[in-house]
Amino acid sequence: MCIFYEGGWKNNLIQIQAPGERLLQRIIDAHIHLSERRDDALNHFARMNGLRYTLGELLGTMRRHKIVRGLLLSPPLGGGVPLPNENVIRLCGRSDGMLAPVITVEPTAIEVKNAVKLAEENRKEVKGFKVRLGYVKASAESPVFNRLYDYAESEGLPVLFHTGDTAFSTGDLARSHPLTLDGLANKREELTMVLCHFGNPWFEDVAELIYKHQNVYADISGLVTGGAYAEKYAEWLSRKISEAIYFAGGADKVIFGTDYPVTKHSETLALVKRLEVDEGDKEKILWRTAERVFGL
Ligand SMILES: [Zn+2]
Repeated sequence: MCIFYEGGWKNNLIQIQAPGERLLQRIIDAHIHLSERRDDALNHFARMNGLRYTLGELLGTMRRHKIVRGLLLSPPLGGGVPLPNENVIRLCGRSDGMLAPVITVEPTAIEVKNAVKLAEENRKEVKGFKVRLGYVKASAESPVFNRLYDYAESEGLPVLFHTGDTAFSTGDLARSHPLTLDGLANKREELTMVLCHFGNPWFEDVAELIYKHQNVYADISGLVTGGAYAEKYAEWLSRKISEAIYFAGGADKVIFGTDYPVTKHSETLALVKRLEVDEGDKEKILWRTAERVFGL
């Protein structure tokens, strides 16, 4: 058995290998929320999961699970508006280098302009953008986002899209359906796109999109929930994602994320463990792909 320890987050790699055994313990969580505010609309998920939903708890949990880096996204506040991006950047600044910001972009010309400006001012820190399909009155191909996509392409910054089920019953599924991203991917082959939540429940559509488009990826965040059939559902989820990976011919386009506090770290890690794919593919899911795609 050989063990490697290196310093710094980037090299914070703990790899334990023995013949016939390969344990990889370097993980990147590409989808985290946090605000530390009372009016955070995700507080109720935190309560359901028994989480304090604080920066201290998050960093402690990440360290415990050997999650060396995370991407922080704005949570929705009461009233549906996202936490201001400046707050996300500030929280990342207090994270000891463990969290990097993703800028949430709402569909107005002024918001797009401000998002691009903020990304330019924080060039070293910002790792991508997020568009809240299903929560905003715009689709992925709305012309209002053109300036954002141009900038993201030119800087090589991925754009994350909420896809599939919405956290609130007022969500617009016609705009969050993953197939709405096919047209955009056709038009913009240089734009790196990440489909959040694997388009749940449209896993097969996402399987086709990540197979068809060289620049389209999917994260597995926010999928695990409790309920009467929690165990059966976990089985179903694992089967759906494994099958999508078979269809796509590997897990090169699949990225680990929790959607904390919607899903606990331990639960999403258990989902990866459960996938019926080889260890090399799990390694890609847990960190390799995110490291490359987000330039971490
Ligand atoms: Zn999320």
